[in-house]
Amino acid sequence: MKILFKNANIIDSDRCELNKNVLVNDGVIEAIFGQTDSLPEADEVYDLRDKWLMPGMVDMHTHLNAETGINKSGVNGKLWRMLTPSPEKAIHFLRNAQLTLMAGFTTVRNCGHVTYYTPEDVAVREAIYHDVAVGPNVIACAGFITMTAGHGDLSYPQKLRRLPEYGMGERCFNGPWDCVEGVREKVRNGADFIKVMASGGMGSSGDEPDWPNFTVEELSAIVSEAHALKRKVAAHTHCREASIRCIEAGIDTIEHGCGLTDDLCEMMVEKGLYLIPTMRVVDVLVNSDDKEEAKKAALLVDDHHRAFRSAIKTGVKMAYGTDSINALKHGENGLEILNMREGGMSSKMVFDCLTSNAADALGKADVQGYIREGYNADLIVTAKQPVENIEYLSEAGHVELVMVRGKVVKNTMERPF
Ligand SMILES: [Zn+2]
Repeated sequence: MKILFKNANIIDSDRCELNKNVLVNDGVIEAIFGQTDSLPEADEVYDLRDKWLMPGMVDMHTHLNAETGINKSGVNGKLWRMLTPSPEKAIHFLRNAQLTLMAGFTTVRNCGHVTYYTPEDVAVREAIYHDVAVGPNVIACAGFITMTAGHGDLSYPQKLRRLPEYGMGERCFNGPWDCVEGVREKVRNGADFIKVMASGGMGSSGDEPDWPNFTVEELSAIVSEAHALKRKVAAHTHCREASIRCIEAGIDTIEHGCGLTDDLCEMMVEKGLYLIPTMRVVDVLVNSDDKEEAKKAALLVDDHHRAFRSAIKTGVKMAYGTDSINALKHGENGLEILNMREGGMSSKMVFDCLTSNAADALGKADVQGYIREGYNADLIVTAKQPVENIEYLSEAGHVELVMVRGKVVKNTMERPF
């Protein structure tokens, strides 16, 4: 199907050009051209006069496996994820993915959940890819890799996890060879990337965020096996020691990054590693109803902001991630923009984090993240120039049109075509 956007102001990390025509054909940007007497034939034509056409945004860190309409079931998030059968979870996952898409996020990287060997992210990715359902491009990890007593292992209410006969608890991996098996298992189950829990966290219970999870040997085994199978590795870290181990092991993206200091950031720059800072999650969880979670967030929050400032100062490559789940609602993914701006990042840098940097961190900068001929037609439309006014995109309603894989799936522009 051919779709023509006419009279568009087009903008990406490298270009800003007014009044252009963009022809999309079969999911790809086929041609970009200036004003002409004869426009090409197209199945659909959209007049984008005075509007801005930009690459679809990317959320590099989300958890779509959560109840849509939080607590409608009356069960808290942790319990819901444990007790809900996989087919039902997959439907909630899809709905959350669609809400995220409508906010302008055409690609989401799902950073793990309790799977019991049934990874819903892979199932939903396949359904969307084969046009069974509308949704964003889903980058799946098929569940995280965690060690025994690690952040992933302890993401259950404490009492329940003492009852292994009920089948509670995630498969844990311990020792380098077991970790290698973990990578192979995830890849066999359909993982596009590997997510590893490299420190304690806020959402787990009974641990501390400053517990490093996995030794350097284990992390190095994960990275080398994942890279051999052409998968990138993302690691959750909330403390300095975990970050040191991850940097040494060559983890591709460090998630959250509390505890990063200038010296560690400089090592990340040297190795070309990415940080996905997820600023909002710690700021929000300070007010969590869960007392343990709130206490841990309060301990981390200053350190997290310091790490973010260090990363900006030293020039660490960063991309955008929200850690959306429960209190951070799917469909409100744009709100992280405000936290990144308040944390000291420029509007242009946030724009890059959302588009070109994310594409680079995914290893897809040759097909995604820019408006270029031959690139994927994942595009959004907004009324304000987004590089200078990135805050405008924090509201889903300000994304007026969404195209994913060459199809328009949202259009709220009030104008005749
Ligand atoms: Zn997360």
